[in-house]
Amino acid sequence: MFFKMEHCDVYYGQIQALYDINVEINPGEIISIIGANGAGKTTLMKSIMGLVPAKNGKIVWQDEEIQAKKTHHIVKRGISYVPEGREIFPGMTVLENMEMGAYTLRMSAKEKADKLNEMYELFPRLYERKKQKAGTLSGGEQQMVAIARGLMLSPKLLMMDEPSLGLAPIIVDEVFDIISRVNEKANIPVLLVEQNAYMALSISHRSYVLENGVIVDEGESKKLLASESIRTAYLGK
Ligand code: ATP
Repeated sequence: MFFKMEHCDVYYGQIQALYDINVEINPGEIISIIGANGAGKTTLMKSIMGLVPAKNGKIVWQDEEIQAKKTHHIVKRGISYVPEGREIFPGMTVLENMEMGAYTLRMSAKEKADKLNEMYELFPRLYERKKQKAGTLSGGEQQMVAIARGLMLSPKLLMMDEPSLGLAPIIVDEVFDIISRVNEKANIPVLLVEQNAYMALSISHRSYVLENGVIVDEGESKKLLASESIRTAYLGK
């Protein structure tokens, strides 16, 4: 089993945020989770990372049950998380931020240098700006740093929370293009959480629709894009 979340409930104290969540990811897929503000999208990712553990249910990742595992174990098992708001270190340079990504794995100097070169190939703009303080980059460039930092771990699954948040439309296109390239070139499956439903449905293979903590619809993204109810509720058409 590659990745499967089965019958998961997630709580903050006494308050239930997610109900009976079932999500499957196959190798090579981009999966998106769309939904309004407060639907529970971030909580879903945090539960996979062990930051807000799931009650009941199971999360299986590469044949191992991870629902009760600690976050650092889940990271070591190859799941990388790019949080909402990017959370880069603004006072550190682009290069230092990327090196922080490698820190948890204690890579050798050679491995780190190879990985950095790979990132600069994927993000030439980061090479040009490697000595610039990350806090002075544009929003789109900061998102690139956050993605590159997540990729330093050579993840087997990349999870991204709202990569389009706060970015100008033209930059949103660029960031989604990068996500597609990462998926295709490096063959990394991506779990994407987005309020920008149109973009998310456009680049993903399959999607899940989350409303008030419940998955109310799922299917091929192409089909969801064409569906009347999705268009009305999420695409403003
Ligand atoms: P957004 O797009 O606004 O980030 P979301 O779909 O990611 O929304 P979540 O952040 O997962 O939604 O929040 C889901 C629900 O859980 C909301 O009702 C929220 O208020 C609640 N919640 C989130 N974090 C906590 C917390 N630390 N303690 C208590 N409740 C929380």
